[in-house]
Amino acid sequence: MALIVQKYGGSSVADAESIKRVAKRIVDTRRAGHEVVVAVSAMGDTTDELLELAGQVAPMPAPRELDMLLSSGERISMALLAMAIHSMGFEARSFTGSQAGMITDATHGAARIVDVTPVRLREALDDGAIVIVAGFQGFNRDTRDITTLGRGGSDTTAVALAAALRADVCEIYSDVDGIFTADPRVVPRAQKLSSISSEEMLELAANGAKVLYIRAVEYARRHGVLIHARSTFSPDVGTWVVGPGQSLPEGEKGENMEEPIVAGVATDLSQAKITVIGVPDVPGKAADIFKIVAKSGANVDMIVQNASAAATGLADISFTLPKSDATAALKALAGEQSEVGFQSLVHDDQIGKLSIVGAGMRTHSGVAATLFEALSVARINIEMISTSEIRTSVVVRGDNLGEAARVVHSAYGLDGETEAVVYAGTGR
Ligand code: ASP
Ligand code: MG
Repeated sequence: MALIVQKYGGSSVADAESIKRVAKRIVDTRRAGHEVVVAVSAMGDTTDELLELAGQVAPMPAPRELDMLLSSGERISMALLAMAIHSMGFEARSFTGSQAGMITDATHGAARIVDVTPVRLREALDDGAIVIVAGFQGFNRDTRDITTLGRGGSDTTAVALAAALRADVCEIYSDVDGIFTADPRVVPRAQKLSSISSEEMLELAANGAKVLYIRAVEYARRHGVLIHARSTFSPDVGTWVVGPGQSLPEGEKGENMEEPIVAGVATDLSQAKITVIGVPDVPGKAADIFKIVAKSGANVDMIVQNASAAATGLADISFTLPKSDATAALKALAGEQSEVGFQSLVHDDQIGKLSIVGAGMRTHSGVAATLFEALSVARINIEMISTSEIRTSVVVRGDNLGEAARVVHSAYGLDGETEAVVYAGTGR
């Protein structure tokens, strides 16, 4: 007997039919003799709809009330799921985040889990019940208010429950089959990975892959939770996300085709580029610029500075940031132009970022050269480059991103024999 935590995303519980399908899957797991704890998301697009509704009654809804509102989405799906399980003859009990002992800090809309005290869940399991927990929400002990964990937070709920209950595995169900070597909608020859290290998964998630939320993977890595990302719509094994020193359940091989040096290719169209032109090439200017940008609340990703032209003593500094942060950053920089002494600002929101990720990069040379060669053959211009220990990223024109991903995927030998099956899904 194992203790299995399962998380079902909004698309898996979008309507009554889907809820019954999920209930059956949960009951099957219980029938196989396992203890089951389920974290569930709000039905379909409920969270977006509630957000929109809030926007219609108030231009800036109070964060406390917004959390009261949004947390209700998961209460609906948890209760319906428990009812569906009852009608199949099994005992199930649903719990809100606070009943489940999800203790968070006091930050509304982006709360961090500080403790999990699943006393009531353990009692229910000991009574033989299936436990259903509302995802995405918690409770703060000081304010005594309900909090939410930020969009996509149910993944984190599931992983935190798995850690606190010492579950054998945390299964994260969505409408895709697992983790792929690239987004199959962009790269049709992408293949499902049998397993991936949590360190590689973190880099992929941080660079545009949307299957798993980065905070959940971080939490799993820190607390030694084994994640199995799989599809609600198929019984097939998905992808194991394996942390340091972790092994797979007995009988699971999790072997990928060939031990590739590059595990996957991530693409990201959500960033913009700002170039600060004509910055005096003297100590302290980069500090000035990025202090201003940080104060505007922007989250800077890549930074490149060109060599200053000897004659002018001026340099250009380019950086990327989320498109949604660009306006605030530009305004902040423009406001301090004379103090910093730069000449002008250029804003470019037509960029695409491509990243290759693989732990093999630590030990193999020439990995990045393959990337540049593939792009060169396809005559795609590289505008920026950045690297980490296990990742190389480039910025190209957004229009070229799809083709870039396909040629690079091919160049690293990641192409499958057949095209991946793509459901019309959202990946959540
Ligand atoms: N319902 C929440 C959202 O859509 C949490 C989740 O789905 O994980 O962001
Ligand atoms: Mg959702």
